[in-house]
Amino acid sequence: MNDLTLAAEQPAASLACPSFAIGLDVGGTKVRGVITDPSGAIVAGARQRTRTGVDGVLATIEAVVDALLAEAGIGIDAVARVGLGVPGVVDPTAGVISHAVNLGIEDPFDIAAALGDRLGAPGRVHVENDVNAAALGVTEALGLRSSSVAVISSGTGLAAGLVVEGRLWRGHRGVAGEIGHISIDPAGPVCKCGQRGCLELYASGTAVARMLGPGAPPPRMKHIFAAAASGDATSRMIVDTVAEALAVTIRVVTLSMDPERIFLMGGLASVGTPLRDAVLDALAKAERDSPFLLALRMPERVSLAPDVADLPARGAARLGA
Ligand SMILES: [Zn+2]
Repeated sequence: MNDLTLAAEQPAASLACPSFAIGLDVGGTKVRGVITDPSGAIVAGARQRTRTGVDGVLATIEAVVDALLAEAGIGIDAVARVGLGVPGVVDPTAGVISHAVNLGIEDPFDIAAALGDRLGAPGRVHVENDVNAAALGVTEALGLRSSSVAVISSGTGLAAGLVVEGRLWRGHRGVAGEIGHISIDPAGPVCKCGQRGCLELYASGTAVARMLGPGAPPPRMKHIFAAAASGDATSRMIVDTVAEALAVTIRVVTLSMDPERIFLMGGLASVGTPLRDAVLDALAKAERDSPFLLALRMPERVSLAPDVADLPARGAARLGA
């Protein structure tokens, strides 16, 4: 091969179809990123402490992307899409985020356009809320692209990410999965959404803090489960309330979507097996009086989400695919 041939071939190589994907989990503490190859395998990983505010978040993401590209040995031209999983209110069509309190971004901000320009990847940036990104991540990590999957995340709030045959199901107005705002008690406490007795008021970190009462230290669910097991009445009440509300959530998801697999994740689920067992007990109690519910075989659909830190980033890499 002579020099002339090489020179002629190089532009063709750089015009090759971009085939890698970058996925970013943009959290209030850390930004985690991965690069996946066309088969979905992770070929690079990086993370950085989050700097907040619009400028801080963009700078952190850019630094993570630079580190990822360097590790994978590719340029941004080889990247077909960049996906972001972001906490807060997300309009995935417009690429706009707002009320991302943990990121210090309150007003609507077109992060897709800003980041596309900054990274040299205009039109290739896709944004989703972090629960939806995590749901896609579970689907990817467990090879469930041909299944229907619901991921119930109970952290500060309560929401579900719904994936049908590998694709997110957002619904007509993007509200599918906002299950924390199903009211189960019209006489219950007032929710920030204006209704009373929403599921989120019984199965979230915020709910646990409310049940502990004002002045209590931030709730540590593992401690509460341990105290309940050794007979503390308040802790027992909290565990039973959380488990019952999550069991209701599972029944709602099953009766509206009928997914093959249901995963529990988020801060409350970090308790692990004791939480899953408490939820399965609550489901079993409902099934005892209802052959109809029993026939749905809900307990065998329910698991804890895999304990993998890069699940949301991995799911974000699927956005726009
Ligand atoms: Zn509500």
